[in-house]
Amino acid sequence: MVPDLSGVQIKTTHVNRNVYMLEATGDVAGNIGASVGPDGILLVDTQFAPLADQIRSSLTAIGGKEIRFIINTHSHEDHTHGNTVLGGEATLVAHIQTWQHLKKDPNRSLEKVITFDKQKSFHFNGERVDIMHFPNGHTASDAIVVFTGSNVVHLGDLLNSGNWSFPFVDLDLGGSIDGLIRNVKSILDLIPQGAAIIPGHYEITDKEGLKMTYDMLLETSGIVREKIALGQDLEQIKAEGFPAKYDSWGRGYTQAAQWIENIYNGL
Ligand SMILES: [Zn+2]
Repeated sequence: MVPDLSGVQIKTTHVNRNVYMLEATGDVAGNIGASVGPDGILLVDTQFAPLADQIRSSLTAIGGKEIRFIINTHSHEDHTHGNTVLGGEATLVAHIQTWQHLKKDPNRSLEKVITFDKQKSFHFNGERVDIMHFPNGHTASDAIVVFTGSNVVHLGDLLNSGNWSFPFVDLDLGGSIDGLIRNVKSILDLIPQGAAIIPGHYEITDKEGLKMTYDMLLETSGIVREKIALGQDLEQIKAEGFPAKYDSWGRGYTQAAQWIENIYNGL
């Protein structure tokens, strides 16, 4: 479902070297990562089709020419709805399970497609770009994109940065609470010190920001787990909520009660 996009603007931030982040104001769509250079444009996610004109002008403004590759981090609409309208002659790159979802919708797959299972590497705009699958976290088939030369990582919805919003685990699409925690830990171990992180939602962050989310995931899921073990039902757990230090996390698209329900259903 496409939300109300009236008045939404695309804000461009230079992350490092060839890599930029394109963000829709009001967090109405997932953040786009873009490598822009002599080889053309490699785009990570595409937000919503009605924003495509603005996205294209933003790319032109930073010297972007042809979009050659579109990588999708996962199949959710706020990351993939713009695929066809932006794609044109581009090649779509997605995890095989992600693509199985995308191809059900004629507007979200492209003519040329590359799928992968565990990992795929590109050599583009002077650096190696690694796409890696992290199974059963936010969905079954989340991928992260590592720009190795620029030291930038796009984490898709494995991360909402900051302390604005609790995450969302799509249990219907193969996501898992424990899987998300495990994947975030693996990513913390994997990415180099000093890496800039483009999250699926909210502002650019770093390993410290990811660690803060990891600690939150461990503690909040632990709280719900303990209460379930004590025999409390969902309504009781929701009524008690989380400690006050988590109050700020309920300002985004997942509030405390929804996150408690998500954990409860996922455990
Ligand atoms: Zn998502």
